[in-house]
Amino acid sequence: MASPLYRDTAVVLRTYRLGEADRIVVLMTEHHGKVRAVAKGVRKTTSKFGARLEPMSHVRLLLYQGRELDIVSQAESVETLAPLVGDLDHLTHGLAMLEAVDQLALEREPSPHLYKMLVGALRTVAQRSGTLVVPAFYWKLLASEGVRPELHECVHCGEGDPLVAFDMAQGGALCRTCRSGAPLSAGALELMRMILGGRLNDALDTPASPVTHEVAAHATKALEHHLERRLRTVAIFER
Ligand SMILES: [Zn+2]
Repeated sequence: MASPLYRDTAVVLRTYRLGEADRIVVLMTEHHGKVRAVAKGVRKTTSKFGARLEPMSHVRLLLYQGRELDIVSQAESVETLAPLVGDLDHLTHGLAMLEAVDQLALEREPSPHLYKMLVGALRTVAQRSGTLVVPAFYWKLLASEGVRPELHECVHCGEGDPLVAFDMAQGGALCRTCRSGAPLSAGALELMRMILGGRLNDALDTPASPVTHEVAAHATKALEHHLERRLRTVAIFER
């Protein structure tokens, strides 16, 4: 019989209370996909897990596999990815990344690339701020899901620059004749090309401006579009 005990490394995505003393932790594991597990006694001051099972914690775990919920048996810290107290940008950016991964990851479906992207992004967030850190992560997530927007020619007719609109429902940027969706500035288009074209660090160095906000708005909308479409697909399969 297979052992119900297994080891894995994970990032804590979120936690919620279970009864008086316990907590459920939602984990993005390296090898087992998204896992929900009970951490018993974690809310007592004498807890053996201490503060190791908070959102953004990067931990090595020993877990018992359960029918619905697994049980955390041991947890040790791999590294500190959580923000320093009072670093609000770091906290906000980190939580936005956790939420995106929480929505994208499927339960018990191994997705090592998603785990690796999250750890990498949380390390980036720990080192640098900037308005494009989270949007860039969204674009990278979408690209890894096979949803890479077309940014070099009009998705409708194939014309090159100038591309003046962006519509994720169409698959990317559009020319003046075919435009739909939201207006796209030349600066935002250039930044999106940098992010998805291997010049991420140059893009992250860009100071905040209306253009970086525009890129953030396109990224958020594109991620929402992808999640909604996937939810609809799941609903169709479950009918
Ligand atoms: Zn066109």
